[in-house]
Amino acid sequence: MTKRDSRYDILFEPMDIGPVTAKNRFFQVPHCNGGGYRDPSSVAKMRNIKAEGGWAVINTEQAEIHATSEITPFIELRIWDDNDLPMLRRITDAIHEHDALAGIELCYNGMNGPNLHSREVPMGPMAVPIATFTNDPIQAKAMNKRDIKNLRHWHRNAAIRAKRAGFDLVYVYGAHGFGAVQHFLSRHTNQRTDEYGGSLENRARLLRELIEDTKDAIGDSCAVPVRILIDEMMGDRGITNNEMRDVVSMLSELPDLWDFTHGNWADDSATARFKDEAAQEEYVKGFKQLTSKPVVGVGRFTSPDTMARQIKSEILDFIGCARPSIADPFLPNKIAEGRYEDIRECIGCNICVTGDMTGALSRCTQNPTFMEEWRKDWHPEKMQAKGRSENVLIIGSGPAGLEAARALGLRGYEVLLAEAGTEPGGRVTRESKLPGLASWSRVRDYRQGQIEKMPNVNVYFESQLTASQVLEFGFENIAIATGARWRNDGIARYHLSAISINKAAFIYTPDDIMNGELPNGNILIYDDDHYYMGGVLAETLVKNGCKVTLVTPATRVSDWTINTLEQHFIQKKLLRLGVKIITTHALLAVETDHSTLECVYTGDTHTLETDGVLMVTCRISNNKLGNDLASFESSWAKSGIKSVKVIGDAEAPAPIAWATYAGHRYARELDEIIDLHTPQFKRELVGLSQNWN
Ligand code: ADP
Ligand code: SF4
Repeated sequence: MTKRDSRYDILFEPMDIGPVTAKNRFFQVPHCNGGGYRDPSSVAKMRNIKAEGGWAVINTEQAEIHATSEITPFIELRIWDDNDLPMLRRITDAIHEHDALAGIELCYNGMNGPNLHSREVPMGPMAVPIATFTNDPIQAKAMNKRDIKNLRHWHRNAAIRAKRAGFDLVYVYGAHGFGAVQHFLSRHTNQRTDEYGGSLENRARLLRELIEDTKDAIGDSCAVPVRILIDEMMGDRGITNNEMRDVVSMLSELPDLWDFTHGNWADDSATARFKDEAAQEEYVKGFKQLTSKPVVGVGRFTSPDTMARQIKSEILDFIGCARPSIADPFLPNKIAEGRYEDIRECIGCNICVTGDMTGALSRCTQNPTFMEEWRKDWHPEKMQAKGRSENVLIIGSGPAGLEAARALGLRGYEVLLAEAGTEPGGRVTRESKLPGLASWSRVRDYRQGQIEKMPNVNVYFESQLTASQVLEFGFENIAIATGARWRNDGIARYHLSAISINKAAFIYTPDDIMNGELPNGNILIYDDDHYYMGGVLAETLVKNGCKVTLVTPATRVSDWTINTLEQHFIQKKLLRLGVKIITTHALLAVETDHSTLECVYTGDTHTLETDGVLMVTCRISNNKLGNDLASFESSWAKSGIKSVKVIGDAEAPAPIAWATYAGHRYARELDEIIDLHTPQFKRELVGLSQNWN
């Protein structure tokens, strides 16, 4: 085993948090996962794997403490009454199995909870519309003294239950715009005139009371951390960084740990496109000096150097990680063992967040096993031994091909990866050269690094294979991961048949731009894809001197990025760059000097002067090889071929996370007996109530 660099020893020093002791400085801060109360065993196993990977503290996602505070349609945990305890006990047992501390983030959403399921009236410091992603037409009532007393009682009960469920840390939470604690703290959401409003001391009263109540109820054996925002990122309209320094000075020694985050969830969990590693440093610097209690903060930390610097320069005591712990649950152990090159670094894409935002189990671009640990029994570091066959030919070294090669190599197969181009990575190599997407090359780098260490995996470049060559080679298993290319005919969501395009008009696709074919003049980007590509290419073209108009049938730019928490940042950036944005319009026809647009509501048309059109619409699978091989199926046995499978974008184009998943799944399922007529994963079904009548 390689010895770890002594510079990182500081990361492995134990530290007390109130009555409990963390074995090292790796602190998995609360994070959602799309599973919550609906998929508790999936959640428990996911946390269990992180405990195995060396995290000292592992926290749950937010746990709603009462039915007057639930955030349907988002699925988090609940600790409403004793019925929730078995589910929570499964999680704490799973975390304790590997000697980690289990924390729970108690949350009273208040004016952030629409209560669509419980049908209770939401409550907050003020009587205003509730603040949700979905603009629900519901208002909160202003809490009276009785309501505040009730809230304190519910929080206390939840804390006692959390202790009974086996948690070691029980949080008081007021960050990300999500909790009543924050709503009371900020003058933006608290304009009360009683002792809970006005002065900072008054606005911090609820926070103080909840800390005191929780300490009183369970502080003898459980640590009581506070997760709190340190800047609302709205200037004087909200709570400022300076004000929060005053709050922390005021309550300095009350909690057992301070866990700092800034802004709303989109600020705190910004993508790599908008914020670098350790981006919170400028806000959190100096907070540690206001308290003797340990301090944790986040920053999408993946570099042990940055982590050690945070501690040595006395900014943080614990390295808080959500996404880096998702991308690599074994991050602490890999650093401990000096296996830095094995770290699967988070790329900052926020695909994990999209799970929570869409009510689906979260997935991760880098770690295809995330949230499959229980239902598919997938371990992020281990593969089952190989099956009956010996070898695999993988064609295409994009994310699907690379992940299949890595995972099959681990299983012990002889693997040949054939790539038509001169370098690996497929779409991630090309897209990582676009503005803000550099970290996406980590999808390639991690896999390439792993494969290079495997004597049983060989990669051949400049090997554009045809079906007859594949038949000649004599491999038992063939995986076709040949990717996809962008269309140029306008077909996507709005148009399902090609639009009218003058043959002399300049039409570009994202592939052209990535191949360095850059247009000039007045360029219309037609975005019927709705993810990042349209916005990223608008930036590229503006930087190249084009006058850019972005047209989309959606009501906003890069519509789907609402799920990656980027939409606001993207639209702001394009507006600042001077991109003209035309929403709710589809491209109808392209001439050499103008294009015709159609309003998606009225059908009214108008024209725009254009020198060229960049179609960001949808992609076509590169499935020629797959189709050719299928037409030779009768010769497979003669050639020794046992299986042929098309995977990733070559099967059906989707985000990169889908491709790494497809590659991993292929590797897991090779030589296994798969019953396609039943679900391919374990399900957790609701236990029927005994009380039918
Ligand atoms: P995915 O996202 O599914 O992994 P990509 O488009 O990223 O797909 O990668 C596909 C890779 O396959 C590209 O690097 C491409 O050069 C390669 N490729 C495509 N066709 C062939 C072929 N016939 N032989 C070898 N490599 C191919
Ligand atoms: Fe990081 Fe993306 Fe994985 Fe989330 S989905 S943990 S942002 S790599």
